[in-house]
Amino acid sequence: MIKGKTIEQWKQEIPLLNDVISLKEALWVNTNYQQVHQALKECPLTMADVKEAEERLHRFAPYISKVFPETKDQNGIIESPVVHIPNMKRSLQEHFQMDLPGDFLLKCDSHLPISGSIKARGGIYEVLKHAEDLAIKHGLISKEDNYAKLADESFRTFFSNFSIAVGSTGNLGLSIGIMSAKLGFQVTVHMSHDAKKWKKDLLRKYGVKVVEHQEDYSKAVAEGRKQAEKDSTCYFIDDENSQHLFLGYAVAALRLQKQLQKMNIQVNEDHPLFVYLPCGVGGGPGGVTFGLKLIFQDHVHCFFAEPTHSPCMLLGLLTGLHDQVSVQSFGIDNETIADGLAVGTPSKFVGKLIEPLLSGIYTASDEQLYKLLTMMMDCEHIHLEPSALASVYGPIQLMKKGNEYIQQQNLLSKLKKATHLMWATGGSMVPKEVMEEDYKKGKELLK
Ligand SMILES: *Cc1c(COP(=O)(O)O)cnc(C)c1O
Repeated sequence: MIKGKTIEQWKQEIPLLNDVISLKEALWVNTNYQQVHQALKECPLTMADVKEAEERLHRFAPYISKVFPETKDQNGIIESPVVHIPNMKRSLQEHFQMDLPGDFLLKCDSHLPISGSIKARGGIYEVLKHAEDLAIKHGLISKEDNYAKLADESFRTFFSNFSIAVGSTGNLGLSIGIMSAKLGFQVTVHMSHDAKKWKKDLLRKYGVKVVEHQEDYSKAVAEGRKQAEKDSTCYFIDDENSQHLFLGYAVAALRLQKQLQKMNIQVNEDHPLFVYLPCGVGGGPGGVTFGLKLIFQDHVHCFFAEPTHSPCMLLGLLTGLHDQVSVQSFGIDNETIADGLAVGTPSKFVGKLIEPLLSGIYTASDEQLYKLLTMMMDCEHIHLEPSALASVYGPIQLMKKGNEYIQQQNLLSKLKKATHLMWATGGSMVPKEVMEEDYKKGKELLK
């Protein structure tokens, strides 16, 4: 029983659940989608919050540039490129035997400096915010200072009196672990059973304490939270509920707006922008969606992508139960190759906030992710981790199953002038051997 109803009753009420529960790929069009002026009325966060986060990242830029020399070229701003992927578009059209109108772009968060995934946005941002709060509170720094001085040994000694904890399937742990250790914090990362060995090894090399759990992501987070509660000097980064993480992700939208302008890519009434975002607990894709809706309003259409084995946000929104439902309660195993996305229970905070802003959610099978990974390598020479490829499946799902949405939003005649932006959420840190294994699997499946 789930909230007083059997699974059979749920299926009768919501027919799409039949496909979702039997692990078939699906696309859900959000029935609670609203025009943006309406949707943002009730929203607890605003553009002012996103701007504040952006300014904080600017204050830290001299420090980041100093301690992570790979960010020097960008003056300490952690940002990723947007690239055209015309070969991939052609390859997808051939493979799926479909016409896919519009321009195809890839947002390469896979190649974000420091930790090589979208988590380098939210995760690093929240650690920096915490460090700033502490340093200001203890009278060690003011917002007008040059933050490069945070690299001094005296600050590392100061921060070593405090600790940071987080629960993660891998990538959030990497971002928070690396950033916290660099500042001098003691840091503990609680890893779920599916976290890749190379991620744990890398963290230990940075001096991060890694605690391995035999359960999934939600349990790792719960353990982290519990341990942190016992220690008043410990700050817990709550992937399921954090507004700070969310705002760190949202800053991406301000940056993307500038990048698209530079590339002469229009987003307006006649030129819709479709954005496809791989979703785990929801913070990353949710924050980016929030930022994009603030900027591009009704001209941007955001879709989340989830693995067929971990459709937590889809179930949370479909049933309206948010974090009161898990994929396991519907008999789904939460086992997927897409480790950043192997989450059984969605964030309620994110689910509620994005409910009126999100266009829909689709799912992709692990097989599909492997195939797309191999195609991306073959035709664009871009190396991504499986999770990231969930985004690339977006235009196919939209053109195959999204007719209802296209009609509703009056988009049919505009598709030729549309831009499809796929958010490649991770990949550049994957070791070569692991990448080659994944590539081979995809190659096998493409035969
Ligand atoms: C974490 C992650 C996501 C999704 O972010 P959430 O905030 O968990 O929804 C997507 N892709 C990759 C590679 C990730 O690591």
